[in-house]
Amino acid sequence: MLAHSYDFHTHSTASDGTLAPEVLIEKACAAGVKLLALTDHDTMKGYQALVKSGYSADLKLITGVELTCKLEKQVVHIVGLNIDADNERLTSHLQMLDQLRMDRAKAIALRLQKAGLPDLLEAAIDCAAGGQIGRPHFARALLDLKLVSDQQQAFKKYLGAGKKGDVKVEWPELASIIDIIKDAGGLSILAHPTKYNLTMNKIRYLVAHYSELGGDALEVGYPAVTPDHQKALSVLVEKHQLLASGGSDFHNPAYHWTSLGCFPGVPGHLPHVLDVVN
Ligand code: AMP
Ligand code: MN
Ligand code: MN
Ligand code: MN
Repeated sequence: MLAHSYDFHTHSTASDGTLAPEVLIEKACAAGVKLLALTDHDTMKGYQALVKSGYSADLKLITGVELTCKLEKQVVHIVGLNIDADNERLTSHLQMLDQLRMDRAKAIALRLQKAGLPDLLEAAIDCAAGGQIGRPHFARALLDLKLVSDQQQAFKKYLGAGKKGDVKVEWPELASIIDIIKDAGGLSILAHPTKYNLTMNKIRYLVAHYSELGGDALEVGYPAVTPDHQKALSVLVEKHQLLASGGSDFHNPAYHWTSLGCFPGVPGHLPHVLDVVN
């Protein structure tokens, strides 16, 4: 896993990460990152808090967000980079997502309760501590109550695909997300394409659609990607004349499989998001 001077995919306490934005920036600096995007799930409140506090750091911070959406029934994540945080469409979209995620959290709590678990809503809200709430906060609540041994087990038993706590909601359509990011002057990146449990044929279909809808880039460098995946994704980047991006998807210093600025590199022959945002 190579250390890079950029990282375009990270999470803070504004969503399901465990480091406060200012701590994350400090650690990124210490890891040698010079160009960083904070890409919390469905919120830019981490970035906004940093700006409000008048932060200063020995790196360049670019705006970012990781937006949850769906194509047909498949949930996918789109990282938006270099977006105008004050863009009206984007701002009202993020407000809508605050509500959607809180409603979903209530539904998750109910479903888990019906499955025999205690009511975890308050505990999950506490874990989110004002950040955008998601399934990882239920995982932490389950862990605090010693009902699971770690976050992975919480997903395996209760929160992962097809489990009781995997409550389906009407996530926005991929097309509208690409449009909102464009409207806010940003670049869209289809995050971690091999992490949706899709066959390579389905990934090809997803990327073709994504490209037709005006998507800009594919994430090609991320911790779980294998050399074979990377080859296949690189072919798709070239075929659809996209850009390639990379990031650690950092959430938590205790996760030994991710650290800031560390991820498999983007193959050098591909056009890189770095050349566009730098
Ligand atoms: P949500 O956005 O609420 O649907 O939660 C998705 C987040 O949960 C992802 O961004 C990951 O951080 C985390 N996650 C998803 N699957 C797993 C898993 N199997 N084990 C641990 N964490 C997971
Ligand atoms: Mn996450
Ligand atoms: Mn993601
Ligand atoms: Mn992420």
